[in-house]
Amino acid sequence: MTSADLIALASRALIQNYRQQPIVLGRGRGVEVWDLEDRRYLDMTAGIAVSALGHGHPALVAAITEQAQTLLHASNLYFLERQILAADAITRRCFADRVFFCNSGAEANEAALKLARRYQAVVAGAPQRTRIITTKKSFHGRSMATLSVTGQDIYRDGFGPLIEPVTEIDFGDLDAAERALGTRDACAFIVEPIQAEGGIIVPPAGYLAGLRDLCTRTGTLLIFDEVQTGIGRTGAWFAHQHEEVTPDVMTRAKALGGGVPIGAIAATDDAARGLARIEGKAVPHASTFGGNPLACAAAVAVIETIDNEALLENAKEAGRYLNRRLEELVAKHPAIAVATRGRGLLQGLVLSQPAAAVAGSCREHGLLVSVAGGVVIRFVPALTVKRAHIDEAITILDSVLAASS
Ligand code: PLP
Repeated sequence: MTSADLIALASRALIQNYRQQPIVLGRGRGVEVWDLEDRRYLDMTAGIAVSALGHGHPALVAAITEQAQTLLHASNLYFLERQILAADAITRRCFADRVFFCNSGAEANEAALKLARRYQAVVAGAPQRTRIITTKKSFHGRSMATLSVTGQDIYRDGFGPLIEPVTEIDFGDLDAAERALGTRDACAFIVEPIQAEGGIIVPPAGYLAGLRDLCTRTGTLLIFDEVQTGIGRTGAWFAHQHEEVTPDVMTRAKALGGGVPIGAIAATDDAARGLARIEGKAVPHASTFGGNPLACAAAVAVIETIDNEALLENAKEAGRYLNRRLEELVAKHPAIAVATRGRGLLQGLVLSQPAAAVAGSCREHGLLVSVAGGVVIRFVPALTVKRAHIDEAITILDSVLAASS
C-alpha cells in the first residue's frame, strides 16, 4: 500500500484522536528515517525523546533479539532475571534503592502518586494527607490521576471529575511552594526538573533544592518526573543530578527502553515502603507487563550502551553546540525566533508565533522536529547525534524561518 492509501485507511480505522503529520514512516537508521516512498528525513524528535540510541542501534537490536528467543514474558508471579538486572542498573546510577517497573510515563507517575498516598496512610500514619501539589504548565500523563496533576487545562477538557485534592502553583516559585506545603495536608509534590511539554522551561537555580528542603520539613514526598529528562537526555543520567538534589521518588519511561515500551519508578528505601506488600493483605500495586523480560533487556542494553559509547558526554557537548547554533538563528531572525532554552539534548527555540506551521515546513524540507508549549520548536534527537546532523538541521530551519518571517 502507498502512504496515501494507508492515510485514507487510517481515517477509517483509527480513532481520530491524534493530529499526525501526513507521512507514513517505514524504517529508520541512526538519526534518519524514511517514509514508504523512500523519502529521507533527519529525525530530531527521536520518537519524542524515546529513541536515545537512534534507530536500529545494533546493541539494542541484539539484546531484544536474544531476549525474544530466550523468554519474552513470564509475569511477576516469579522472579525475572532481566528485571532484577535492570533495577540494579538503575539504582547504581542514581539516589534510589528500589525500582518498580511499569509500561509508560503515565503509569510511572500513577504508581508514584499511589505510593505517596499509601505512604502517608500506611507508613506515616497520616491518612488525611491526600493532597497533591503540582505546577502550572506541567505534563505528567493522560491517565485520570496524572491528568489531574497536569497543570494545563487544554488536556483536561471533558474528562472531569478528576482526582482531588490537587493544588497547582507556579513553576519556579518557592514562596508559593512554601504556602502550599505549609498546610501539611499534602502527600506529595510532583514536579519535572525541566518542564518539557510545557515549553522546555528550566527552573531558577536553587529551585529543586528549595523544594527538597520544604518537602523534608513538612513530611511531603518529593516526586521528580524524569520521564522526558531522564536517561541521559540533559547530559546527566537524570536532570536533577545537575543540582545535587535527590527526590524521594523519581519516575522515568520514554528513553529507558530505547523504543521498547517501559516505565519505572525509583525510590528510596523509606519511600518504597509506600508500595511494599503487607502479609495477609492484597498486593498493593502491580502490572501484568511491568518488568517484562523483553523491555528490561532493552533497558539494560540502553543503559550499558550510554556508558560504553560515552553518550552522556555527547549529550552535553552536542547539546551545547545545538544551543549555540540555535542562538545564531535568534540573532539572524529576531522577528520570529526570540529565545533558546534547554539543557543538553533537550533544546527549544522559542518563536514569536505558534510553532506548528514552522515544524510542518521543516518536515516538507526533510527535517522532523516537534512542538512544545505551543510556540517552541523542540529538539530531542538521539543521544548519538553528531555535529554534522545538527548543522543539516540548522540549515533547513534557517531557510524555513527566512521564508516564514
Ligand atoms: N511525564 C512527562 C514529563 C512527559 O513528558 C510525558 C510524556 O510526554 C509523560 C509523563 C507521559 O508519558 P507517557 O506518554 O509514556 O504516558
